[in-house]
Amino acid sequence: MTYSKILVDAPMGTLKCAICHNDIKQDNHLYQSERNKSIVCPNCWKLFSKEDIELIIDLFFAYGGYFGKNDSSDFSVNEILKNLTQESESDLDLDQLNIKLLHKALLCGITPEDFVKKLNEILMS
Ligand SMILES: [Zn+2]
Repeated sequence: MTYSKILVDAPMGTLKCAICHNDIKQDNHLYQSERNKSIVCPNCWKLFSKEDIELIIDLFFAYGGYFGKNDSSDFSVNEILKNLTQESESDLDLDQLNIKLLHKALLCGITPEDFVKKLNEILMS
């Protein structure tokens, strides 16, 4: 996967970052995925690794929402686990659970890195 730096030439307010949904300003230098043409703002570019950016874009495409949509204090792994396991009782596989948890974390503005830290904290306790 490759990203190229592009200079935006579009009317104000028509472009949004694929991750945080902030408006893209006309004079911003941006990064565009050559795989899915998604545009990422400079902030998100700094915040996430290239691999994470692709994963995050896929997650929001599949499940909706955007980075930081909800308050980070809304995020409780224990509570989300409880809800998710109630949602889809028997046919829940671990990979899917992980993906759904990560999606919830991203909605609350938690980076994949912090998400892994939080999971480890819970596993250690
Ligand atoms: Zn962004």
